[in-house]
Amino acid sequence: MDQSLLEQLKQVFKGDIAKDETTLMTYSHDASLFEVKPQLVVFPKDSDDVKALVKFVSEHKKDHPDLSLTGRSAGTDMAGGSINESIVVAFQKYLNHLVSIEGNIGTVEPGLFYRDFEAETLKRNLIFPSYPASRSICAMGGIVNNNSGGEKSLRYGKTEKYVKQVRVVLADGNEYILKPLNEKELKEKMEQKNFEGEIYRKMYKLITDNYDELQKAKPKVTKNSAGYYLWNVYDREKKIFDLTKLWVGAQGTLGLLLEAKIELVPVFPHREMEIIFLHDMSHLGEIIDAVLPLEPESFESYDDNTLMLALRYFPEFARQLGITGMIQAGLAFMPAFMEMLVGKLPKLILQVDFTGDNPEVLKQKVASLREKLKPLHPQTRIAIDDQEKKYWLVRRESFNLLRNKIRNKHTAPFIDDFVIDPHQIAEVIPQVTDILKKHPEFIFTVAGHVGNGNFHIIPIVDIQNPTVRKAIPEISNQVYDIVIKHGGSITGEHNDGLIRTPYLKQMYGEKIVKLFEETKNIFDPQNIFNPRKKVHGDLDYAMSHIRMNW
Ligand SMILES: Cc1cc2nc3c(=O)[nH]c(=O)nc-3n(C[C@H](O)[C@H](O)[C@H](O)COP(=O)(O)OP(=O)(O)OC[C@H]3O[C@@H](n4cnc5c(N)ncnc54)[C@H](O)[C@@H]3O)c2cc1C
Repeated sequence: MDQSLLEQLKQVFKGDIAKDETTLMTYSHDASLFEVKPQLVVFPKDSDDVKALVKFVSEHKKDHPDLSLTGRSAGTDMAGGSINESIVVAFQKYLNHLVSIEGNIGTVEPGLFYRDFEAETLKRNLIFPSYPASRSICAMGGIVNNNSGGEKSLRYGKTEKYVKQVRVVLADGNEYILKPLNEKELKEKMEQKNFEGEIYRKMYKLITDNYDELQKAKPKVTKNSAGYYLWNVYDREKKIFDLTKLWVGAQGTLGLLLEAKIELVPVFPHREMEIIFLHDMSHLGEIIDAVLPLEPESFESYDDNTLMLALRYFPEFARQLGITGMIQAGLAFMPAFMEMLVGKLPKLILQVDFTGDNPEVLKQKVASLREKLKPLHPQTRIAIDDQEKKYWLVRRESFNLLRNKIRNKHTAPFIDDFVIDPHQIAEVIPQVTDILKKHPEFIFTVAGHVGNGNFHIIPIVDIQNPTVRKAIPEISNQVYDIVIKHGGSITGEHNDGLIRTPYLKQMYGEKIVKLFEETKNIFDPQNIFNPRKKVHGDLDYAMSHIRMNW
């Protein structure tokens, strides 16, 4: 950014402005494959700063078309969502407060770490149930803007269900509240002769003109973070028009988030867990059918490669449990160690978690599940005492294990989050792994939310190897072909970012992508907010920004 422009920015912005090399390099990365260096990182002190920033960019955009604003909370996005070339707006330094918890509604600023929010909600025996596996490192702004999901999403659904209201800055540099509106409220909004009125008029027209087509385009899976969720905005029966449904998961492409009101749910006091070891996948569909009607809180899975990695790096991995925990984990995993030695690890480990108020009901559910599974002869185990923690640890830590453990190789999230109907897992997963097996440079594990049919396949690779880089788009294409052919979504939680926006046309088709572009244009006609995400994706741009040095 040229000096005179920077000086002008300093006149209107109270927060910190950084352009030193260390800061720029730090903010060039998130948890994705990419490196995109910003020109400036700014740390707004309050809402007025955010508004001033948007007004500033809007006023200078004509003469400086490359100016843009990319919101960032904790920067753990796996798709390249929180990196960009112009100005990164970092919310974590100042806008990081828990504003209040009143009843079952928590009001949060974007930079608030989820872990700090959870510590407060748990004091009230409440929880935000859609926390992601990155719960200890991510913040609420990213959770809302990515429409994050996690281990409890099977029972509770995703973030979109819990965001009741957002306070945002839109492209005209003013602050607005988005929330569900009834007919009368919507009419009033549409009559306003200002930018907000125009947004409501245009969005209402876009959605009602294309209502049936949009409903048809809604992915038929239980989790989706791909595209703009235009199909969820207008409930024609209840006559409720709710732009929070569009905002959540839009990756900061429609504006900047200042605050969100989040619904919380009670924490159940009792838990039972059944672990199922599958030596072949042939009965997976029947097992899923046996488990889902019992309404578990979560139903998770990981493969033999994940378990092998956990066993191979056991001391480091179990260190998180403390000395007693380590000994208990050693005992819990003893059978798995023996199986590894004789080369007989189960192909897939399934964890079924039941929670509730009545321990007897939970015990009955486990007993009923075991009865249903008997004819299928899988090996099963009820997790007793603290044992479940150890199995959960493998599941939760699978990606981190990969990230931290293999020397000279790095995790490459690019087909990391697809979703299919769980009944099609047994058919789809082998097809996907067959594609990967044709590329011996890609070492991979399979773990995920089996109950939702949502899988995290994150290969580890030597990214310096040109063969690897060339294969990434090829594999993506082939995998997404399969996923889309089976009615799935290319992302259930991690969102589009740089890596998946180019595939939205493959998933939704030309017409729906056109509606996404119109939506972006209605909210952000100057393309100020987080360019190249959600619309106008550019695969060549993404591939030319692969991070080479870690
Ligand atoms: C080990 C690991 C495990 C993970 N597991 C999961 C998982 O289980 N489920 C899941 O959903 N994700 C997962 N993720 C991805 C990521 O951690 C989550 O999506 C998380 O919610 C992002 O939060 P963040 O604060 O780091 O977001 P950021 O990276 O800061 O931002 C995410 C997106 O939101 C936008 N944004 C952030 N703040 C604002 C704002 N104030 N205004 C406008 N836009 C904004 C950014 O531009 C970006 O597009 C995982 C990541 C890692 C590294």
